[in-house]
Amino acid sequence: MNPVVSLSSLGEFGLIDQIRARFPQPVAPELGIGDDAALLSPSAGSQVVVSTDLLAEGVHFDLGFGPARLLGRKSLAVNLSDIASMGAVPRWFFLSLAIPAGFSLETIEGFLDGLAEQAAEHNCILAGGDTCGSKGGLTVSVTIMGEQRPDLILKRSGAKPGDEVWVSGSLGDSALGLKLLMEGARLGCADDPLLLRQLDPIPRCDLGLKLAEAGLLHAMIDISDGLLADLGHICEQSGCGAEVLLGQLPLTPAFQSYCSKQPVFPWPLALSGGEDYELCFTAPAGNHAAIQQLAKTAGIQVTVIGKVTNSRQVHVILPDGTNFQPSASGYTHF
Ligand code: ADP
Ligand code: MG
Repeated sequence: MNPVVSLSSLGEFGLIDQIRARFPQPVAPELGIGDDAALLSPSAGSQVVVSTDLLAEGVHFDLGFGPARLLGRKSLAVNLSDIASMGAVPRWFFLSLAIPAGFSLETIEGFLDGLAEQAAEHNCILAGGDTCGSKGGLTVSVTIMGEQRPDLILKRSGAKPGDEVWVSGSLGDSALGLKLLMEGARLGCADDPLLLRQLDPIPRCDLGLKLAEAGLLHAMIDISDGLLADLGHICEQSGCGAEVLLGQLPLTPAFQSYCSKQPVFPWPLALSGGEDYELCFTAPAGNHAAIQQLAKTAGIQVTVIGKVTNSRQVHVILPDGTNFQPSASGYTHF
């Protein structure tokens, strides 16, 4: 049995040693955990693609909602999703932890197990990080680095009027899962598929990479703050607008079944709930069949939900053809 039973007996450097032992390290001439800085070598001709995401206890997660292992998986998943949306290949990541005094070592170990699983699934190497105490809750910051040839990288700014607007997978399940968790639902019930979309999102890495490398798209973003907010970012940065047809949104049977029992169909869950971690992308209509074919090889459903327009706004149209007025476009912190 492991003789170390608490984080305080392990100490900062003991914890860093434990972290290093759980994750495969970069091989020479690269350098990972253990020196003042990491040394990394991107492939020749590639640009480095970097993104970072912060998860704060009480703001982004509640350790009472599910096992720490899933929080570990999600901490990397949300970063992998950013790399996927750029059409890049994930390579390395950095983990910074602020841990409250007296925090359970078992919880940290569960977290690291999940993180190591997700890292192995995506061949992403932990190359360093930082560790300190916290006077508040647990804070997890992951910085991810990927790479891609500059001509293949997809940005938010490339959409063109006339493009079709696509989304991968389905929308709204994660926001509905969070609502159910907040109402007291826990894993082990009939709603598990919805709860897991919130607790253990699957980044669309393979699809994003395939789409970028096929050169079929004009712009891409991942849906973290809700479809309307994130499609809004594409429109803003591309200097155009979009029309979204609510009747075309991909919704799972579980989501539809819940929503159809509500007095008013809760469209905001699918439009602005957020944390879907699906990809939203725009492409010329002439590439429609090729995109469908490619998504099939990636094993992920993709759906056209509207088109890019010349206006500077995102218009949402109800199944009966009238305009829908969203109350908020997405999650904002302040
Ligand atoms: P410094 O004092 O220069 O910040 P540290 O003692 O914090 O260095 O870190 C020592 C080594 O351990 C570094 O290589 C750093 O990247 C790594 N490290 C520290 N914390 C973590 C962590 N939470 N996850 C991964 N690597 C870490
Ligand atoms: Mg440090």
